[in-house]
Amino acid sequence: MKYVDEFRDGDTARHLAERIAAEADPARRYAFMEFCGGHTHAIARYGVASLLPANVRMIHGPGCPVCVLPIGRVDQAIALALQHGAIVCTYGDTMRVPASGGLSLLKAKARGGDIRMVYSAADALKVARQNPAREVVFFAIGFETTTPPTALVLRQAAAEDLANFSVLCCHVLTPAAITHVLNSPEVAQWGTVPLDGFVGPAHVSIVIGSAPYEPFAAAYRKPVVIAGFEPLDMMQAILMLVRQVNDGRAEVENEFVRAVGREGNAAAIAAMAEVFEHRESFEWRGLGTVPDSALRLRPAYARFDAEQRFSLTYQPVPDHKRCECGAILRGVKTPSDCSLFGTVCTPDNPMGSCMVSSEGACAAHYAYGRFKDIPVVAA
Ligand code: SF4
Repeated sequence: MKYVDEFRDGDTARHLAERIAAEADPARRYAFMEFCGGHTHAIARYGVASLLPANVRMIHGPGCPVCVLPIGRVDQAIALALQHGAIVCTYGDTMRVPASGGLSLLKAKARGGDIRMVYSAADALKVARQNPAREVVFFAIGFETTTPPTALVLRQAAAEDLANFSVLCCHVLTPAAITHVLNSPEVAQWGTVPLDGFVGPAHVSIVIGSAPYEPFAAAYRKPVVIAGFEPLDMMQAILMLVRQVNDGRAEVENEFVRAVGREGNAAAIAAMAEVFEHRESFEWRGLGTVPDSALRLRPAYARFDAEQRFSLTYQPVPDHKRCECGAILRGVKTPSDCSLFGTVCTPDNPMGSCMVSSEGACAAHYAYGRFKDIPVVAA
């Protein structure tokens, strides 16, 4: 298949749905977590869940980069703008993530902070070149998808010896988070759902390849199928997972062969390795502190590290006490379980991070699924 329409073909979707229904064992239940927020969005947008038999259930995972950004990190970015007078540059969705004191980067901008939305890390570098008398900080978030561009920009800043540019590095790592979902002390607090397998991320896997999931699949006996973002990608991946479960296999399979290889993008991996090293631990929204799950700048790039440059200390901040993002990101609850969903909390007025980005479970359900929660009553 060469064109996007072919990945949305209704007849093929019906055929795949029939295969899943025929091959799913009626005597058992299947629960698969789609790790990636892009998959959550695709499932909601194209109604994939409604094509599945009742005993095959999809569970949202913590793979939306905006959703897992903890309040304490947004507070640091706001402090850079309001207290240190820096120009803070970041991606659009990050601007609306709720922070402490009813603030967000967008609201801090309204209070006079010089906070700018950029489309790329390179745009932030451009702002630094254009404002040599100001400190410019790039608030860098995201998984392995957005990390290579940050690495390239840091290499460029070093080559130019830019004196006014730094990065507040909040890049996180996918394999560590998938492991943590199954194997963390907080599971006792939040409860857990039995998971039979994972739909592996698409964009992240283009960068890191399929190999990094292999130790996880072997250690936890959980199949992983890497899938693209189109509805037929999802359906095919679910069928592959059902087959693995039926066969008692726990392998890494790749549905997204048109973009993902086993080894990933060597140039991108080398750039990341040159600039970043692992943090011992990092707080994720909803997952708590996850060991070895995020990146920081290597000592050779210390002068571009905003945390060191501005002597920032990290202060964890709890979520709004009625927000269920933590349980949703673990797959324990769904958006409609939250009492704030669709009333107090909407995409225009998000109370938690899952309602901010279109990849967030709450935002996806609000856009495409919320009316399904309302029972149909005959007049
Ligand atoms: S609806 Fe809003 S408050 Fe509730 S879990 Fe989702 S983001 Fe949090």
